[in-house]
Amino acid sequence: MRGQVQGVGFRPFVWQLAQRFGVSGEVLNDAEGVLIHALGGDLDAFEAALKTDAPALASVDAVESAPADVVQISGFTIAASGPAGAETRVTPDAATCLDCVAEIADPEERRFGYAFTNCTNCGPRFTILKALPYDRAQTTMAPFRMCPACQSEYENPADRRFHAQPVACPECGPRLWYEADGAERSGDPIALAVRALKAGKIIAVKGLGGFHLCCDARNGAAVDLLRTRKRRPAKPFALMASRARVREHADASAAEWSLLESSAAPIVLLNASGASLPDAVAPGMARLGFMLPYTPLHHLLLAACGGGPLVMTSGNLSGEPQVIGNDEARQKLSDFADGFLMHDRDIARRLDDGVEMVGPAGPVVLRRARGRVPGTLPLPDGTGETQVLALGGQLKSAICLTKNGQALLSHHLGDLDDALSVDEFFKADRDMADLFDHRPEAVAVDLHPDFRATQRGRARAEALNVPLIEVQHHHAHMAAALGEHGWTGETAVGIVLDGLGLGTDGTVWGGEVLVGGYADVQRAGFLTPAPLVGGDRAQAEPWRNAVVRLDAAGLSDLADRLFPNQPRDALRQAAKAGINAPLSSSAGRLFDAVAACLGLVPERQSFEGEAAMRLEALAASAGQRVGAYSYANDGEVIDPSPMFAELAEDLAKGVAQEIMAARFHGSVGAAFAQVGRSVAEANGTDQIALSGGCFQNITLLAGMMEELSDFRIAGPGNVPANDGGLAFGQAHVALARLESA
Ligand code: ZN
Ligand code: ZN
Ligand code: FE
Repeated sequence: MRGQVQGVGFRPFVWQLAQRFGVSGEVLNDAEGVLIHALGGDLDAFEAALKTDAPALASVDAVESAPADVVQISGFTIAASGPAGAETRVTPDAATCLDCVAEIADPEERRFGYAFTNCTNCGPRFTILKALPYDRAQTTMAPFRMCPACQSEYENPADRRFHAQPVACPECGPRLWYEADGAERSGDPIALAVRALKAGKIIAVKGLGGFHLCCDARNGAAVDLLRTRKRRPAKPFALMASRARVREHADASAAEWSLLESSAAPIVLLNASGASLPDAVAPGMARLGFMLPYTPLHHLLLAACGGGPLVMTSGNLSGEPQVIGNDEARQKLSDFADGFLMHDRDIARRLDDGVEMVGPAGPVVLRRARGRVPGTLPLPDGTGETQVLALGGQLKSAICLTKNGQALLSHHLGDLDDALSVDEFFKADRDMADLFDHRPEAVAVDLHPDFRATQRGRARAEALNVPLIEVQHHHAHMAAALGEHGWTGETAVGIVLDGLGLGTDGTVWGGEVLVGGYADVQRAGFLTPAPLVGGDRAQAEPWRNAVVRLDAAGLSDLADRLFPNQPRDALRQAAKAGINAPLSSSAGRLFDAVAACLGLVPERQSFEGEAAMRLEALAASAGQRVGAYSYANDGEVIDPSPMFAELAEDLAKGVAQEIMAARFHGSVGAAFAQVGRSVAEANGTDQIALSGGCFQNITLLAGMMEELSDFRIAGPGNVPANDGGLAFGQAHVALARLESA
């Protein structure tokens, strides 16, 4: 059996099937998965049930069978694992299962109210793992000696805790406490924490992959206090709530519920509805990020406070990685938190909450994190035997390893502008290489020489004496989308709408139509470039993009009226002289420009994507078809000037903001779809990839998919459309170039 079959209760499951069908033999873990020797009984039914009845956390990629020597005439045994290196797969952390939830709520059970309850079907995995193989002694559960009752569950193949490595109970396992002002408080820690929350306080809660900062989401003053203390004015907060409370505040479809309830239990972006929450939870957003409780500790906390919703935001200093150690939390979070809900099970590996949503073609991962890693992704048939290390980009960094036809795309490792995140990134690079016994035969990086990830890759390639493969940013985005869909064709078109990435001509790209394949692409279309005046400031201050676009459209007087207090003359002079004003075709900056024209954002964005997210929230609320603005295009260059002229007319007429936002979305979709279509037809392909950070915008994605419904579309899914998916795309490009070399 191949796939995710180790550490998920597969061997006891096979043992139970063997009893049921009268089969004798043995089952063991080996380097390729699970190996079964089976003799006698109803072998056909046994084999069929292996697939159909597999445990909840298992995912079976393949079952292969062949005649073998007899190993055991009667009885069925679970054999010891093979030699070191035999257990190759690590399972992602899994949300508490329904059996365990029922158990901690039952006063008759010995684990009643126990915050560290888990079993083979649920609980911590990757976040407690220190080294392979995945065995209790190699996890942060090692210091806890199992009591006889836990030991007998652990050893009994008929028990749902058979070989559950983190098995524990109140007698022998980790302990929970509440502390404030540097001292542990006596009394029930959950009750103490809930009392603080009800009093409008902020507490730090130690979770699976790090600490959260938590407050009552219905208490506007508490949410404001958290924003002030965290110096986070506008970026939406994630919420945790019981099912009933989610229903009260959001509309979730069946597909969205299945994401919420999946074992990964990510934050899922849902349309807000019904009872409203304070605006400070997610200012200006139409969607709220909800997750269900995913550890017993969360279940106990939520149950004791009426199901929430609670704000659950990562416990970190602005820009830094999430805090995981108890002393680190006391040191760094005491300015934010009035109390700490703590425990003594160490977190071996920092893992943020994942962020996902349901898009027009199914689930879309926005941040690949807890519960999804270290799951692997298949590579297109016949590729990926070569071991490639791909290091991704500067923002939303992530690493990708290829081996045995599989890609291992790491969790979100943060933005590499922050020194501690860079440390974390280097650590993850070493960690993943060790865990997966990876020996890179090539290293892939972004073209940008100043990215920390690029520099790291250069150093790694030199030290390993292997080729360094540089991949253009948007080519990597396109390859990531094609790769996820298993594309193996000759020629495809990529429509990549993104923030910024260095182009092969030395200018900054970001609104591109590319044509080619994994190995190479040509630039076949792009947005008319405009200067990014002030470099990095042009990213943070949307009005700068608005002024240059309006000027280009001959609408300087409108720019003067819209931004009377900004230093427009200085900006125009710098643009004209080309001083710190690189040209860019970025689609992301076009969204910023329009958001600024509509007055949706402050002078300076407080987080990446703020302007675009507000613009989308408006467009999504516009409802039925409202038309689109015009664009000029000569089959290659897409000029937005006519769009700004029509936007100016709408502004003068006082047209509703929602309508203008929706018309803008429609025009971007139509313009790029038109160029993408003609490039595809000219090159004889029906395959179009949609990628780049702008496609996190579901309104844009849905519009484009409709425009191009007669093509095969490779859009975002398990691999983020944002820079979190770059490494995966870089790996595909590297594999293709190595093969064609
Ligand atoms: Zn369980
Ligand atoms: Zn115990
Ligand atoms: Fe990008």
